[in-house]
Amino acid sequence: MKAVVYDAPRSFTIREVPTPDPGPGEVRVRVRQTGICGTDLHIHNGKFFAEFPLTPGHELVGPVDALGDGTGDGTDGFRVGEFVSVNPNMNCGHCEYCRTGHPLLCANLKGLGTNWPGSFAEYVVVPANLVFSVDGIDPDTSVFTEPTACAMHGVETLSPRPGTSALVFGAGPTGLLLSQLIACGGAASVTVAASSAFKLKRAESLGIDTTFLMDRADLAGDAAKLKAASGGGYDIVVDATGSAAVSEQCVPLTRNGGTVMFYGVTEPEDLVSVSPYDVFRREITIKGSFAEINSFPAAIAALRTGRARTEGLITHRFPLDDYADALDALRSDRTVHKIIIEC
Ligand SMILES: [Zn+2]
Ligand SMILES: [Zn+2]
Repeated sequence: MKAVVYDAPRSFTIREVPTPDPGPGEVRVRVRQTGICGTDLHIHNGKFFAEFPLTPGHELVGPVDALGDGTGDGTDGFRVGEFVSVNPNMNCGHCEYCRTGHPLLCANLKGLGTNWPGSFAEYVVVPANLVFSVDGIDPDTSVFTEPTACAMHGVETLSPRPGTSALVFGAGPTGLLLSQLIACGGAASVTVAASSAFKLKRAESLGIDTTFLMDRADLAGDAAKLKAASGGGYDIVVDATGSAAVSEQCVPLTRNGGTVMFYGVTEPEDLVSVSPYDVFRREITIKGSFAEINSFPAAIAALRTGRARTEGLITHRFPLDDYADALDALRSDRTVHKIIIEC
C-alpha cells in the first residue's frame, strides 16, 4: 500500500509499504479520507510526542476492509464495507491514572499518527475497541468525528452553566465545532474572535451568535473592544488559536468567577503572564482540555443530528501523493479551513 512515511522530523516520502493484516481483535480500515489537523504540522516538526519512523494522520473515515478474529460477530461486531471512524487515542489500562479512572491522563498514552501508524496511508489496522460505526453519515461530515470528539471533551471540561456568555478565540474547524457545542451545552451567547474574515463568515453561517474580527497586530486593542462589547467580559473565555499572545488576553477578559480554558496547542516552551492577584481576587478558574478519549459516541451523535455542523468547512482536497503541497497550503494559504487528504 501507499503511505506517507517520515524517517525523521521534516523528512518524508510517499512510498510503498507492506499492507498490514489485522490480528485477533483488530480491524483493517480502507482509508477513504483523512483530515489534516494543526497537530500534523507540530508532528512534521518532530513535536507533539511524535516518534519516528512515522506515518501521521488521525482524522480518518473509511469502510471496514478486513476483520481479525473476534471482531465480526456478536452484537458489537463490524461488517466489511461498514463506514467507520477511529478514535486515535489509546491508554495503557495499567498505570496509576488508568487504574483510577482517568484514561486520558494515562502515563503511557499512545496516539494513532503520533507514535502509532496513522492514516495518511491506504489502510490502517487498529484495535476494534477504537473503531466506531459512522454508517449513514456523509463521509465529508464523519471525517470530522475526531475534532468533534475533542470539542465534546472541551465542553465536558467547561461544563458551562445555563445562560453563560462565552468567548472563543480562533475560528479554525475545532474552534467552530467547540463554539457550536458550547452553545448546545447551555451558553446563552457565544462570540468567536479571529483574524480571518472568511473563517468568521463561515462561523456566522454555522449559527455562531456574534463574530469579532481581530487585528492580531493590536491584541490589547482587540481585548479592549471585546471587553466593551460584552459589558465587562465573558463567563467563559477559550483560547483555540494556540497562540501564547492570544492566551494571555483570556484572564483579563473573564468575568468574576468565570473560567478560562486553554484548548489550542501552543509550543511547549511558550509562557503567558497571569496576575495571581487577579485570579485570586476574582476567583477565576483556569482549565486545560487535551484531546479526548471517550467522546467518540457523543461526537458521532452530534454529527448525526446536526447539533455539530460542518458545512463548508472543507476548503481543500489533495491526493495522498501531494501531501507536501497540502502541508504548504496548511502553513501559508489564508483560504484554507479544513484540508482533506484523499487516499
Ligand atoms: Zn486532530
Ligand atoms: Zn495508563
